[in-house]
Amino acid sequence: MTEDTLKIELSKLPFMNSTLELEKRIDDLLERLTLKEKFKLSAGRRMWYTKPIKRLGIKSFTMYDGPHGVRVDSNGKTQSTYFPSAICRAATWNPELSERFGIAIAQEVRDVGAQMLLAPGINIQRTPMCGRTFEYQTEDPYLNKDLAVAVVKGIQSQRIAACVKHFICNNQEINRFTVSSQVSERALQEIYFPAFKAAVQEADAWSIMTSYNKINGTYGSEHKHLLREVLIKEWGFRGFVVSDWTATKFISRTESCINAGLTLEMPMHNKYIPTKMKKAFDEGKFTEERLNDNIKRLLRVMFLTGLFDDESTLPKGSRNTSEHQNLTREIAEEGIVLLKNEGDLLPLDSEKLRKIAVIGPNANLKTYIGGGSSTNFPPYEITPLEGLKKRCKGKIEIVNTPSTADITLMFVGLNHEKGMDAEGHDRDSFRLPQEQIDLIEKTRNENSNIVLIMISGSPVSMIEWINNVPTVLQAWYGGMEAGNTISAILFGDVIPSGKLPITFPKQLSDSPAHVSERTYPGSKDVFYDEGVFVGYRHFDIRNIEPLFPFGHGLSYTKFTYENLQLSKKIITKDEILVVSVYIFNSGVYKGAEIVQLYIQDIESSVERPHKELKGFKKKFLKPMERATVKFVICKDDLSFFNENLGKWTTEEGEFSILVGGSSRDIRLQDKFTYLS
Ligand code: BGC
Repeated sequence: MTEDTLKIELSKLPFMNSTLELEKRIDDLLERLTLKEKFKLSAGRRMWYTKPIKRLGIKSFTMYDGPHGVRVDSNGKTQSTYFPSAICRAATWNPELSERFGIAIAQEVRDVGAQMLLAPGINIQRTPMCGRTFEYQTEDPYLNKDLAVAVVKGIQSQRIAACVKHFICNNQEINRFTVSSQVSERALQEIYFPAFKAAVQEADAWSIMTSYNKINGTYGSEHKHLLREVLIKEWGFRGFVVSDWTATKFISRTESCINAGLTLEMPMHNKYIPTKMKKAFDEGKFTEERLNDNIKRLLRVMFLTGLFDDESTLPKGSRNTSEHQNLTREIAEEGIVLLKNEGDLLPLDSEKLRKIAVIGPNANLKTYIGGGSSTNFPPYEITPLEGLKKRCKGKIEIVNTPSTADITLMFVGLNHEKGMDAEGHDRDSFRLPQEQIDLIEKTRNENSNIVLIMISGSPVSMIEWINNVPTVLQAWYGGMEAGNTISAILFGDVIPSGKLPITFPKQLSDSPAHVSERTYPGSKDVFYDEGVFVGYRHFDIRNIEPLFPFGHGLSYTKFTYENLQLSKKIITKDEILVVSVYIFNSGVYKGAEIVQLYIQDIESSVERPHKELKGFKKKFLKPMERATVKFVICKDDLSFFNENLGKWTTEEGEFSILVGGSSRDIRLQDKFTYLS
């Protein structure tokens, strides 16, 4: 049969009919597949593709990294928009921006002809030392969940599959192929699961990637309890599970992956070599029914992403557009966090300044390079120095000698080299490289008007020098427009509004994972002894003062909080509580405040965090403008995972509502009672 006649014959088959109900198309195609073909579909080839089955017109399903832009090849021949790091996007606390990011990146995926993006990465930031902290969003499950849902919805609105990764407890890079994360059921439920669960239940994520590590002794790709029982049965996941690249290499049995519900082994067969699968099948180690369920999931996503449909019927792709580039800028503008601004050096006054010194190793550094699988290749990247040159042109002279300048802009931080913010290894040190610390010291003696801009994707120790530096801006890795964005923030063209999605500790030993060798880095096992007390929950309960708390971020303007009101003093069963508060911009700039609502269970039968984020709203206000911010609270927001009962429980009693500008800047509070 020629290719053309095959095409004509195939077009008559029910599964090719795009108007037919999805499940009918899946069943029809599944019925036509031989056992051998099902084996073939179970593993990938050439890094990013599934194997095609010509006889049935099944094309390769194509998936590319990653969280900050689409990467097709490793030599940069195919360019794409470079978005700010996930931690920067999280610092915007703006789900709408995350959704628009999802839409834009999916348009780029479509444009390069793929069906799935290997993102978002939503592992909890358990330690600042994790090499992939920059690629993940936050330490808090609530913020993580809202942003993950937004990204997945955005991506999939373009009929591109999101692949939410890495399931689960891949919270460090050190020993990632061998370590077992020993974690309690309660911590899984309260801290590590929520964003994955919401991605499935609220955003209908079409794919989940397993983690390299073991979870309580079993590898993620063969974890029957986590995959089949929790993800598939309990949460109702209808997509497919894909292994992290080569993750199955460390597993011994083919059938354990199949029975657990691992549909696709990437990047090539190892456990899913057809002969191995056939042998296990003949020995009765898995049933065809079991395999069918795995395969159906992949077929479902193939149909959902339009692999069998006429391209003209699918959402249009686009790439490297000014619209996408502007979006990278918007995200970075809202994600940059003003940590400290003593003496109000910022915003810079372009009328008064004559000479600015721009120094430091990160001033002219491009950040798209390196870091591992999140690398992509943009058509350009504006460095901070380039951005400043453009902004200052004809008005202010830029020099590199602090002693002769009115002010010094010092760009320090990390980069994506091994041992810094990079996949595969954890950070070598919590401190800045010694030369940079020396540079801060030296500069301060020459010119004490220092604005320090920290370029990093994870918290860096500042305790040694922060008292000598009046102003600190956390600028993360801001994507391809980073330089323009940073200039805009420095000169007040844009008012900073980002807030930390992660606690900045004074010293590493203050951090929850760094209590002992056992809790980090572990060896064979790493013990999550802190349980649910991750991030600010730990700092609160241990009464440790962080350097900068979770949720912290300053503005050039001022916000006051007034008139906290609770709709009821007592709520019963499923009743809701409406919390409202007035926010007033009493400063002179237009700006945005991220209003945070935390809940505290005053009396509980188990130890609970002193506060937990249960709501946030970002409000843009003009000077002298006032707005009401409302939150709706229900029983679920008060609950904890009760290990004795094996379920979520809300206990009767008093709860506090804490509203403020950070987890340590609670401006207003009140109490109410819950009755069951
Ligand atoms: C990473 C994944 C990535 C995959 C494909 C793995 O090493 O952990 O996040 O998507 O490679 O590049």
